[in-house]
Amino acid sequence: MTSAPGKILTWQMIQPTSRDKETKEVVPGKIEKKEIPLPDLEPGEVLVEVAGCGVCHTDLGYFYDSVPTVSKPPLTLGHEISGTVVAGDEKWVGTEVVIPAVMPCRKCILCKTGRGNRCLDQKMPGNSLGIYGGFASHIPVPSIDLCEIKNRGDIPLAHLAVVADAATTPYQAAKRADLQPGDNVVVIGIGGGVGQYMGQIAKGLGANSVIGIDLTQAKLDRALNYGADFVINSSDKDTRAVSGEFKSICKENGLPGFGWKIFEVTGAKAGQEIGLTLLSYIGKLIIIGFGLGKSEYMMSRLMAFDAEIIGTWGCLPEYYPIVLNMVTSGKVNIDAFVQTRPMSTIMESFEEAHKVPPDKRIVLTPDF
Ligand SMILES: [Zn+2]
Ligand SMILES: [Zn+2]
Repeated sequence: MTSAPGKILTWQMIQPTSRDKETKEVVPGKIEKKEIPLPDLEPGEVLVEVAGCGVCHTDLGYFYDSVPTVSKPPLTLGHEISGTVVAGDEKWVGTEVVIPAVMPCRKCILCKTGRGNRCLDQKMPGNSLGIYGGFASHIPVPSIDLCEIKNRGDIPLAHLAVVADAATTPYQAAKRADLQPGDNVVVIGIGGGVGQYMGQIAKGLGANSVIGIDLTQAKLDRALNYGADFVINSSDKDTRAVSGEFKSICKENGLPGFGWKIFEVTGAKAGQEIGLTLLSYIGKLIIIGFGLGKSEYMMSRLMAFDAEIIGTWGCLPEYYPIVLNMVTSGKVNIDAFVQTRPMSTIMESFEEAHKVPPDKRIVLTPDF
């Protein structure tokens, strides 16, 4: 039996990491355990008891790399959340849910024309949803965009937190690319937190062949069991060498040299340059990763190739049930890519994930 608590317990970001303007010394960020009052729920809002909240690269950007949050600190980070509704709208109470990482306003022209994933007025827990985020015992959220979890079988509720972001962003990317059964796909960064789902979702949507590119052999070997048909290890290789390997895979396997849909998930300049090099006739390069690097590219190649470069952001809440279904039906495996830890390890977990991206997504479970 679930019930609403009298307060919310949370790991609040008091201040992000910063640099002293004069001495240039790094001032460490601060995350502290806090108790905050339970807000009055507005009509259309519910209170979700958090089962798990994933540690995303974006959270690390806010905490370590001076990426500003919309709501100023102190606030609770965390936008990859699954849990159970414990208060608010009666028809939701008792329901297990995934909270979409970005919730569109549903009023603006972007929302009304199907581009709500990039609504400029969107709300994101742990960024623009007031002080509330997922690294907490509870979170108040609008109910309209919640994704109800049905038939999760043996999959732990906490694991499904990754559906809120890591597993849904690739689905939106696939839609942006107009991915169709029979398409040929490259995933650059297939070993990463989002890339592994990109490979699985592409395959799940009927891709004919998926070529995964990454720097770590162990992650590439794993990808071969989860979506990838072929892999290329790009460590110590220049883009020409990677391109050469790509061409021999095509040749040996009777795959065409045109029409590839290339998903760049790393955000790293090296990955983006591989994408630009592989982009060919009637191909599409879809940019999912974020980084600050700049590349030089002969734009006229797009004209000559009749090709496209496309950016993609977040995922429409409407697509969440489809992705959740791919997960619960076994088309997309998440259990192999998730580890859970007590939420009280938040500082160690942030430090660790900031140093080396973990093999498995860290999902923190409340232990207040
Ligand atoms: Zn995220
Ligand atoms: Zn909107």
